[in-house]
Amino acid sequence: MSNLLGLEVKKVTETPPEEVERVKNWINSEEYKEKNFARQALVINPAHACQPLGAQLAAHGFEGTLPFVHGSQGCASYYRSTLNRHFREPAPAVSDAMSEDGAVFGGQNNLHEGLENAVALYKPKMIAVFTSCMPEVIGDDLTAFIRNAKQKAVVPKDLQIPFANTPSFNGTHIHGYDSMLVSILQTLTEGKQIEGRCTGKLNLIPGCDFNTGDYREYKRILKEFGIPYTMLADISDTFDSPCDGTYAIYAGGTKLEDAADSINGKATIAIGPYATPKTFGWIRDTYSGKHVSLPMPMGIAKTDALIMKIAELFGKEVPASLKNERGRAVDAITDSHQYMHGKRFAVYGDPDYLTGYVSFLLEMGAHPHHILCSRGSKKLEKELQAMLDGSLYGKGCTIYMNKDLWHLRSLLMTDPVDAVIGDTHGKFAARDAGIPLFRFGFPVFDRVNKHRYPIIGYQGVVNMVTEICNKFIDIKDETCEDRYFEMMR
Ligand code: SF4
Repeated sequence: MSNLLGLEVKKVTETPPEEVERVKNWINSEEYKEKNFARQALVINPAHACQPLGAQLAAHGFEGTLPFVHGSQGCASYYRSTLNRHFREPAPAVSDAMSEDGAVFGGQNNLHEGLENAVALYKPKMIAVFTSCMPEVIGDDLTAFIRNAKQKAVVPKDLQIPFANTPSFNGTHIHGYDSMLVSILQTLTEGKQIEGRCTGKLNLIPGCDFNTGDYREYKRILKEFGIPYTMLADISDTFDSPCDGTYAIYAGGTKLEDAADSINGKATIAIGPYATPKTFGWIRDTYSGKHVSLPMPMGIAKTDALIMKIAELFGKEVPASLKNERGRAVDAITDSHQYMHGKRFAVYGDPDYLTGYVSFLLEMGAHPHHILCSRGSKKLEKELQAMLDGSLYGKGCTIYMNKDLWHLRSLLMTDPVDAVIGDTHGKFAARDAGIPLFRFGFPVFDRVNKHRYPIIGYQGVVNMVTEICNKFIDIKDETCEDRYFEMMR
């Protein structure tokens, strides 16, 4: 065997080709699947990221806010590069680069020096601090560290520094998002509630969503209604800013003033019950006005639920433009359902994405045959099962909680489906199974502009239906015999 330079490479272990072939076939077998599913202490290719990554996403959603990682520099690089690869935009964040000293003596010195430098260099309006694993393991006390930083005048006393403990050995990016968001809102709204004041606005929390197109879609829907709103943790401009030759370290984000006043809102809608339970719970107990938690509005029924709730909360008729949009989405489904009807899908991802995918597929008469979540819960399982039980197309579909993408591969090889819905990490399993992967989740590293196409709302329905059905038609065109190669499909 030779390498790329044509030089001879001696293998450390020689494996006979027939053994390679045997193992290649064996890992596709039922026998292997059983062993794979019996695995206890090993996770292979989990479909989630670590808590601080979600915390960083939430921090980017606020004006002039610098995400600050208390912990290891390598961890910070991982969150930044993941967000950067997904959005193809910079994800500016700093780290206090804890090393051996910090691990032994605690990270207060690192944090103080880091905060001082961050203020001097990047002049943020707010610094959102969150942790990597190391300070969590040694039990660093962020409350005391940040209080000390202000007492010692390391940072200005009035600088807002919300912080969140985001231990990655417990939870995923959605939990980090929730912890950071609630901390930011608690910090910004402290002392801002005014008896009798009502902003007249809707506070909308889009949840731990990595699709900037979705954020813009929510805004467009609210504009159609003519409802004033504050979008909390708005990353639409942060991660989709115009290319005009200038670099803005703090592009976009919710205005801090608006976020502070959100406590006096007329109503609050938190999207994604699995990504915002702490935030929503705190808002429900604290904020003025009405409070509602809703699933991600994917598919017609879930979008209807959002639209009707907005209309109810603000005592408004659904605008004709949105009714027409709904009609067009239903028309798009009617025109194309035959390409999806009866097809079997495997879906995986974050809980809020999953409930959306399943609802959408069932509406299309498709079967979400394998439903897999690498960090799920009994509550999620129950909700998904109820959705399956409520539809003809849910029959025979199975939910796999706390399973990873290597489990998914076994499922695809032993109980085949027509396509997979998930994120880029599923491409290897999909390729092995010879089926398409529809990338609607996070992260998407290997396709362009996906984060600009909304998958929520009626427009999201049209986008998903178009992408999925056209792919199936492409496959037909590429694989059919000449005599079946038709102009019409
Ligand atoms: S899991 Fe822990 S150590 Fe690994 S990148 Fe995340 S925070 Fe860092």
